[in-house]
Amino acid sequence: MDLEHLKKEIETAFPNPEIGRIFFAKQNILLEERYGFTPENTRFAEGGCSDEINEPEYQFLEKYWGERFKFGGLAGYCHGGKSGLGAVSHHVPELDGRKNLLLVAGTHIGYYRGEWGEIPRSGQPEITTSCGSLSAVLQTGYETIKSKGIDPLDRQQQTVEQLMLPYLENCARAGKTPDITEATKYLMQIIDRDLLRIVEDIEPHFDGQIAIITGITINTEHGNYFSTSRVEVRGNS
Ligand SMILES: [Zn+2]
Repeated sequence: MDLEHLKKEIETAFPNPEIGRIFFAKQNILLEERYGFTPENTRFAEGGCSDEINEPEYQFLEKYWGERFKFGGLAGYCHGGKSGLGAVSHHVPELDGRKNLLLVAGTHIGYYRGEWGEIPRSGQPEITTSCGSLSAVLQTGYETIKSKGIDPLDRQQQTVEQLMLPYLENCARAGKTPDITEATKYLMQIIDRDLLRIVEDIEPHFDGQIAIITGITINTEHGNYFSTSRVEVRGNS
């Protein structure tokens, strides 16, 4: 399949997908040229899913900006919360009175030969789920999650289950099967909402700029695409 065709297929579910590497290369240049972010005055922090499939873009960003702080976890939710993001706000280098925090966050979804939520991985004959955490939530289902007790050894997954419960409840009430693309978009909205609340909590104590880049990473057999949800630079320059 040629890449233009693949992009068109992705676009049927997620708007303006761009090859991840190209999208982030542009963002890096923009942050540096327009907002004065440099590797010397910037800390990069990332809130993606634990899944190694999302590493290429994070490592690309890390090579540009330097070592990254991780505030994400299963399904790309900001599990690090106020404590995690509060901590990284104290790890930002300052140069000539300027300091910048770059936050990159969002969930992800696989796309393979017309199927959403699936991706083959090198060295594995079977097709795997992506995001595996979110797929497992849909698999577990509304009734089971609703009546589940707390498992202290599965806290992140249980957080994702609780976040997705209203979506699953709506599906159950409407008598329809939960859909992985819908669920991914729903989760992305929650991530945006919660990340913004946490950033607003940090801002009064942070004298610098905070760049927020969020979106959905689409994992394909031809590498990752990125569909933007939110791009903004806040605070004093
Ligand atoms: Zn995942």
